[in-house]
Amino acid sequence: TAKYSALNILTVTLLLSRCCDANRKLLVFLIDGFRYDYIDDLQNLAGFREIVENGVKVDYMTPDFPSLSYPNYYSLMTGRYCEVHQMTGNFMWDKDTMKEFLIGTNPDSRLPMWWDGSEPLWVTMQKLGKRVYMYYWPGCEVTILGVRPTFCEEYVYNPSEKNLTDSMESALNMLKSDKADMAGIYYEKIDVEGHHFGPRSPEIQRAIRSLDQAFQILHQKIKEKNMRDDINVVLFSDHGMTELKWMEKVIELDKYIDMSHIVKMMDRGPVVSVWPKQDKFEEIYRNLSSVDNMNVYKKQEIPHRFHYKNGRFVSTLTLVAEPGWFITENKAKLPFWNNGTEKAVGWQHGWHGYDNEFMDMRGFFLAQGPDFKTNFRAGPIRTVDVYNVLCKALGIEPLPNNGSWSRVECMLRSSAGAVRAALIYSFLLLLLLLPH
Ligand SMILES: [Zn+2]
Repeated sequence: TAKYSALNILTVTLLLSRCCDANRKLLVFLIDGFRYDYIDDLQNLAGFREIVENGVKVDYMTPDFPSLSYPNYYSLMTGRYCEVHQMTGNFMWDKDTMKEFLIGTNPDSRLPMWWDGSEPLWVTMQKLGKRVYMYYWPGCEVTILGVRPTFCEEYVYNPSEKNLTDSMESALNMLKSDKADMAGIYYEKIDVEGHHFGPRSPEIQRAIRSLDQAFQILHQKIKEKNMRDDINVVLFSDHGMTELKWMEKVIELDKYIDMSHIVKMMDRGPVVSVWPKQDKFEEIYRNLSSVDNMNVYKKQEIPHRFHYKNGRFVSTLTLVAEPGWFITENKAKLPFWNNGTEKAVGWQHGWHGYDNEFMDMRGFFLAQGPDFKTNFRAGPIRTVDVYNVLCKALGIEPLPNNGSWSRVECMLRSSAGAVRAALIYSFLLLLLLLPH
């Protein structure tokens, strides 16, 4: 009997250790512009509700500064602050090469210099011999540090709901058939509607409901394919959204400075990068310092808490608007200002990019699967924390990063601890049971 019990205990131990086996599959959703409170009321959102009840929900996720897409896409996938991974804007300029990085599809945006500042998770995976499938994910078409994912469905503007559900089907099939270890799907619609109609509009409600339907389909498919015990699903956004009141709160820079003294200006809105002519620098700085509802920073004066100032592509002057305010050279130069097309005018109801501690900039994070606790509500996390969670679920060693393990550890089943306890327990029992 002693031998038999010992064998039993060993079996239990082995079964327990299976729980943190590195062969789990991971499916990740990056939902652009999905604010943390869009799922406050789950009554009509059965797809989201199922994830919340079967998995983990954090109160909110604070984005990195600036609360814009590309910087946060990369913070999510590297666990590093923007000034560390170097992706500091949706629009960047390199003064040495005079090259521009522009959001969307632009050949120069694929240059390695914008991307090679840090190694994103999918590159690490590929280097380890694992396979990553990515759908519409911005940057999956880029060769980063010499590596591309196994599969990349290249980004297109605003992928449709059919694109989304087709990607889900394909991703699940690839994961199920062992062709992929991780899959990532990007969806832009929530951000697009948020810009056009604002975060409290009926249009955004409708977009959230149709996204919810896609997740209902996802749950159905996971069940049909019998994958519930083998797949972790993690969903998050890059930032939130705040209301813009019909462009009333516009700061027009040409009212304060002579624009011919500016060598380069990148982006407009909450954060604007400005490189003044060297001999006009102090004058421009002084004039901009007097502008209401906006802060102007010399590079080294940018608040440390933004973790932004040491970025390679950060301009000599950075302008940051107060929430709800919009910085531009001149209203008349805005492409969507009063140009008569309904779609363009709609652009003015929502924006993001502000101080990352501003509540409306907060994103969401949900996770479900065998490695996550069920019906668990976690406290707030930060964008840089997500990387460690993904690495843990994939069973790979994270690279050095700025994330805090203590903020995310609570959401995972403490498999390592359970196995350790079981091993000690079986060892003690063996000692007791074996003949002396
Ligand atoms: Zn956006």
